[in-house]
Amino acid sequence: MSAVFFGHGSPMNALGGNRYAEAWRAFGARRRPRAILMISAHWYAAGPRVTAGEHPRTNHDFVSFRGPLGAFAYPARGDAALVRRVCELLAPVAPALDERWGYDHGAWSVLANAYPDADVPLVELCIDRTLPAADHYALARRLAPLRDEDVLVAGSGNVVHNIELLRSGWGGAPAGWQRRFNDDLLARLDRGDHAALIAYERLGPDARLAIPTPDHYLPLLYVLGVQRAGERPQVLVDGDELGGLGMLSVAFG
Ligand code: ZN
Repeated sequence: MSAVFFGHGSPMNALGGNRYAEAWRAFGARRRPRAILMISAHWYAAGPRVTAGEHPRTNHDFVSFRGPLGAFAYPARGDAALVRRVCELLAPVAPALDERWGYDHGAWSVLANAYPDADVPLVELCIDRTLPAADHYALARRLAPLRDEDVLVAGSGNVVHNIELLRSGWGGAPAGWQRRFNDDLLARLDRGDHAALIAYERLGPDARLAIPTPDHYLPLLYVLGVQRAGERPQVLVDGDELGGLGMLSVAFG
């Protein structure tokens, strides 16, 4: 099974109607996994955790967009067998089995397009915010066997995500930095330059603007961790939204 990074952008993308949603839909139409393991920017908390409920709720974890999305539901069921398998692969790291946390909008806004019937079981793995980037990549490497077990390993974030600059109208930032960083990142994906992508804090001033906090970037490292030797990135869709939010989505395999 493939591995995929979705650049999710606005929660409104759940409703479709743009080229990003169309690209996610086309991806899902070509791949039908047994289950999905999702690593989303919007479950970024202390300690390892997995969703372990049978029917996790849909979290409306955003302040704007309430109107059209307030009642949005993505009723994918959980998957106890996948939870057990993830724990087995990550041992001795022992994720807490979280039966209260539901699916966050980083997960459901893209999956509502890729798998609109919500008929593929879904488990989310929390991004443990206490760990450095290299540890996330190392954890992901242990999850690689899932791809042989028909599980789609999916990351959801945005490779360029600076909400503070967005709110201030991108003032004071040098021209063209978003696209420059995005293209540099794509070239490194193409070369399989994982070492540099893990040490993203050393990638220079554009990277510091693109990744002011790690939450929306780290899901990419989970996808790279399960990438196989020789696999090339397939760009599903790319673009800048709202003046500079990086919407790159990329698949392997
Ligand atoms: Zn987000």
